[in-house]
Amino acid sequence: MCGIVGYVGGQQAAPLVLEGLTRLEHRGYDSAGVAVLGTSGIKIAKQKGRVRDLGGTLPKRFQGRTGIGHTRWATHGPANDVNAHPHTDAKGLVAVVHNGIIDNAAALRQQLTDDGLDLASDTDTEVIAHLVAGSEQDTLEGKLIDALGRIEGTYGVAVMHADFPDRIVVARNGSPLIIGVGEKEMHVASDLAALVRYTTTVAHLDDGEMATITAAGFTTFTADRSSTHKAATTVDIDPAAYDAGEHDSFMHKEMLEQPTVAARVLRGRLDERFGTAHLGGLNMGARETRAIKRVKILGCGSAYYVGQMGASLIEELARIPADAEAASEFRYRNPIIEPDTLYVAVSQSGETIDTLLAVQEIQRKGGRCVGLINVVGSAIARECDGGIYLHAGPEVAVASTKALTNMFLGFALLALQLGRVRDLSIADGKRLIAGLNALPGQIEEILAKEDELSEIAIGLAGAESLFFIGRVRGFPVAREGAQKFKEISYRHAEAYQTSELKHGPLALISDEVPTIAIVPNDELADRNVAAMHEIAARRGPLLAVTHEGVDFGELDAVRIDVPANEPELDPILLTIPLQLLAYHAARHLGHDIDKPRNLAKSVTVE
Ligand code: GLU
Repeated sequence: MCGIVGYVGGQQAAPLVLEGLTRLEHRGYDSAGVAVLGTSGIKIAKQKGRVRDLGGTLPKRFQGRTGIGHTRWATHGPANDVNAHPHTDAKGLVAVVHNGIIDNAAALRQQLTDDGLDLASDTDTEVIAHLVAGSEQDTLEGKLIDALGRIEGTYGVAVMHADFPDRIVVARNGSPLIIGVGEKEMHVASDLAALVRYTTTVAHLDDGEMATITAAGFTTFTADRSSTHKAATTVDIDPAAYDAGEHDSFMHKEMLEQPTVAARVLRGRLDERFGTAHLGGLNMGARETRAIKRVKILGCGSAYYVGQMGASLIEELARIPADAEAASEFRYRNPIIEPDTLYVAVSQSGETIDTLLAVQEIQRKGGRCVGLINVVGSAIARECDGGIYLHAGPEVAVASTKALTNMFLGFALLALQLGRVRDLSIADGKRLIAGLNALPGQIEEILAKEDELSEIAIGLAGAESLFFIGRVRGFPVAREGAQKFKEISYRHAEAYQTSELKHGPLALISDEVPTIAIVPNDELADRNVAAMHEIAARRGPLLAVTHEGVDFGELDAVRIDVPANEPELDPILLTIPLQLLAYHAARHLGHDIDKPRNLAKSVTVE
């Protein structure tokens, strides 16, 4: 969660650090701060609120060529000026920024207080500054190793010390850190987004790894002081991906990119001749693939809902029992890990801590886990036994659109491959490949209806509460639709199985509670329409996301027709209009679409 930025080199650090923090704003934060180390020691400016406001209040003489900055997502102590990072020791010699949670903070705070120190903030992070300052080691690296030796918990941490003005020392344990290599200058950040304007030559730190960065370069090592000899590599990222261009938000830009990125995830992976998919990254031969008896999918939020869509695809195409579960709950129920189950972890960032910990639980118990991940080289991608990269490009908006679409397509490819080593016929395989190839164009057709959808969305934005309903394949679509709507419009949006309405929530239907019904043209269409009649009878306003062939008779419902594909692939097409509805409702309500309140892009704290 939140962000770390650091710079060492020949330029003034403060403007560069602030610029880097701006690039991390989309991750969600409540306060921001920066520290520079110059000839007169360390200076710190920090406050609750936006990076922009912090920049506006920086004193003119805030000079130094080494600097660190932070956007905080409060876990210990409220969001206020004092709790904002960087934190320092009693003498102001050390500055620390930290992402993550220190589990034994209370005990350490008590020990420091018993030693006669006054703690300035309520945070867990502040203890690091005092422990570094109190260490007897004679290098900053040694002092940080000492301090971290007393800490239990997760961290990405960056430290400066007035006695060692040429360097920043950083350490990673569960929270990402990336070093960016420049020309006689070095950067560090918790996310590539903060680096790509300056350099695409980067080194990702591994958990348990530390690094020293100076203007001349970097060295990596572990707590036992052995070198890890890490080399930087060049990432193939277009800095424009981090620029919203003519769009009012990244979410809008990313929604419109979907036809392009959908084609990209399919490229080179479809075998038209044998009606199957090639997923070399899974690292599984045909015999191993055949031996799978069950598939368990793990993700959080939208990745969990698309996991449910994926489970249906796998059951339908491969006839293997499959289900999806919230990764955040999984490890707490001492899960039974079976050797012939394929576990699939789904995460855009590949850093979602709950999903990462679920993967580790599976690995600990000897299970096989593959990933559906967008960010190449991320923690979950590295932890898994294989996987499918999503090739959606950087997704900046908190509300996932293009990554989610490519997750669905990743599942379709997986289901096809699993199906074709079993009983899915070559004819069915070819039918699905034709469907997959048609999808990018059909997504484009739906996006072209933006004006119409925007008007409908404005109508929905006035409602305090909405239902999203669907059945079987349509139910995860409804869940994802409700999720998207609530996360950016802040309206109460609840997803329900259409069949369950009469078992409870029908009591809530009134002319003030609109229902968005997912009604594909399948064998359940008549039943869906019947349920809509029950809603209409209670004066509930109705909107149907449906296919042309569905007949609503006399029913008074607004309809959005999406192009039909193969029934197994329809869920993703039914999802696209729901993205536009959420976006336009939020826009109409004047919300900050890319930075929804209380949410962060990749949730890297528990
Ligand atoms: N636990 C720290 C705090 O509450 C850091 C939270 C973060 O990751 O921003 O200050």
